[in-house]
Amino acid sequence: AVSSGAPMELDHIHIKGAREHNLRSVDVKIPKKKLVVMTGVSGSGKSSLAFDTLYADGQRRYVESLSAYARQFLGQMEKPKYDVIRGLSPTISIEQKTTGTNPRSTVGTITEISDYLRVLYARIGTQHCHLCGDPVQGQTAQQIARELATQPSGTRLILLAPILVNRKGEHRELLAETRREGFVRLRVNGEIVESEGLESLDKRRKHTVEVVVDRLVVGKGISSRLTESVEVALKIGQGMLIATEPDGEDRVFSESMACGKCRVSFPEPTPQSFSFNSPQGMCVDCNGLGTRVEIDLDLVIPDPAVSIDEGAVKPWGANVSEKTGWSAGFRAQICAQLDVDMDRPWKRLPKRLRETLLYGAGDRTFRVQWSGRSGKGTFDQEWEGIVPRLERRFAQASSERAKRWYAQFLGNAECSRCGGTRLRPESAAVRIGDESIVQVSSRTVTEALEFFRKLSLEGAAAQIATEVLKEIRGRLDFLGSVGLGYLSLDRSGPSLSGGESQRIRLASQVGSEL
Ligand SMILES: [Zn+2]
Ligand SMILES: [Zn+2]
Repeated sequence: AVSSGAPMELDHIHIKGAREHNLRSVDVKIPKKKLVVMTGVSGSGKSSLAFDTLYADGQRRYVESLSAYARQFLGQMEKPKYDVIRGLSPTISIEQKTTGTNPRSTVGTITEISDYLRVLYARIGTQHCHLCGDPVQGQTAQQIARELATQPSGTRLILLAPILVNRKGEHRELLAETRREGFVRLRVNGEIVESEGLESLDKRRKHTVEVVVDRLVVGKGISSRLTESVEVALKIGQGMLIATEPDGEDRVFSESMACGKCRVSFPEPTPQSFSFNSPQGMCVDCNGLGTRVEIDLDLVIPDPAVSIDEGAVKPWGANVSEKTGWSAGFRAQICAQLDVDMDRPWKRLPKRLRETLLYGAGDRTFRVQWSGRSGKGTFDQEWEGIVPRLERRFAQASSERAKRWYAQFLGNAECSRCGGTRLRPESAAVRIGDESIVQVSSRTVTEALEFFRKLSLEGAAAQIATEVLKEIRGRLDFLGSVGLGYLSLDRSGPSLSGGESQRIRLASQVGSEL
């Protein structure tokens, strides 16, 4: 008779002729839905049967059931040596060796939660500017044109395409090219000038140059011309354009992800850009280590309770205000002009002053007097800052003795660029629901569950994230239900107990809902 419906499930797994490793054509029936224990002296083939035959074939069958597309990433799996296996369900396995042979592994990486977080951040994270914190978004030419057209009728608009930002030089070739392209006007360092006859710029100064692409008055029937000009400007400006009004403020628009205020652009985020093990994601200053050898403030200012004249700034020594030598006298004059009280404990100087002394005074110049045997005079000098100066002098030091002297101020400090997060700052500035991947990864399992429970996504983001969120929540739920809610996701693998690490590895299996 022909049976109807699903075939009846066997109540046991039937293995015939298992020959993996040292197994000699073993036939065995293993009851299902029971706890089955295999015992035997070591070397008798327990693992060969359980892991290398049953588990391996379950995996192989699962992979074969996937699409050809998915299979190409998983590679071919070899069929274990056996004649027949019937009644096999999908398999999972936990080995009794401890995890964490990899010192870089964490609860997040072992459970694969970190992998899913990276995918999630790449897909639905919102890029913020790592310098000013503003949200960053790219716009299409149409969107930019539409926004510009909402200005009140009669507004006079100037569309500019940036071609040079704050670069020193004469830029003859660049200027010649704009003339060849037929652009009549340029804006050079904020001033609109004719391109005809402008052969070169002052080679000692830094210049910012934009091409005037169009000048128009907002009103009816302007939209197609506006869109066209926006497109041209974006093309010349390599994705950036500036809209301004005569005597008005600049508004910077960008086609790609860029912060108009800080004039920095951001790469399209990928899962790799959230991994400190990947060149795309690692902080370039510390190579993803989170620490680097740099000037250590605690070594430069060992005792903030003493004043500068008492020797607070170690590389300067004591009695700074009385010193007259070349660089010491220079420091004393800078301090005087900055109004630094040399007798006040370092830590009680205003923060602004301490920062200036340590990291420099920017473009401000100081008039410094000097006198010596050859005469006397004054000169203008910028203040570089204690820390940049030590860094520079260490890098430039040629003698061993000088190198050693500067090296006394170097420490294995937390990387100042990434703040020890190991991630490039652009990636660490991508947020979901106001949190960066760094923040989410430092949560405990219970806190992370709470975060994802409260997370409300809308529209496209919600759809895109569904599958990934399911994987993350599934694993977190499991970890919570086996009593590991207290572990933080960035807890390192080697620091876990045997029991913890076994339950954690089970989570990565269960979470994938085989
Ligand atoms: Zn910014
Ligand atoms: Zn770093």
